[in-house]
Amino acid sequence: MPQVKVPVLITRSKIKKRVKQLAARLNRDYRLKHLVLIGVLKGSFVFMADLFRCLNIPAQCDFVSLSSYGSGTTSSGKIKMRHAIAHSIKNKDILIIEDIVDTGLTASYLKNSLKKHGARSVRLCTLLDKPSRRKKKVQLDYIGFKIPNCFVVGYGIDWNEHYRSLPYIGYIKT
Ligand code: 5GP
Repeated sequence: MPQVKVPVLITRSKIKKRVKQLAARLNRDYRLKHLVLIGVLKGSFVFMADLFRCLNIPAQCDFVSLSSYGSGTTSSGKIKMRHAIAHSIKNKDILIIEDIVDTGLTASYLKNSLKKHGARSVRLCTLLDKPSRRKKKVQLDYIGFKIPNCFVVGYGIDWNEHYRSLPYIGYIKT
């Protein structure tokens, strides 16, 4: 299917600038720590790759796969772990990398479950924060952009597996 034009919400250059700023904070905050970035598949993979390449401190990476949205545009509310992390996180400083925190259910579930695995610290970095739809209070330690309640795609984020390769964040009308 050819990609139709999607209206821009956040431009490529704004994303690039913000990713650099977030990485600069992480370089300071995790200088003497055992940082492990854990990306939530699939939506965070582009953001995580760009962020990871801007780090100048030792860091490892891993991924988890959860299900929360299915193929629709509204959350099911039910979260299941489809692919768990491969390595031990005991005494490591975990930074969860999310594409979007919307209701907060996914982030809160993941934070709690990683804490139970003996991590020394668990923080969360999200590219996008949609605060208007929050159901579960969760601390977001690093936020790329706060966005209004709209359905976004691009920069790794999909709609039914389409639009992930857009270099910017766009929005589609649902
Ligand atoms: P939460 O548990 O916070 O409601 O769900 C967050 C997840 O829902 C995100 O990681 C993302 O996969 C999905 N999500 C939330 N808002 C959007 C959106 O606007 N577009 C897309 N494609 N996914 C979204």
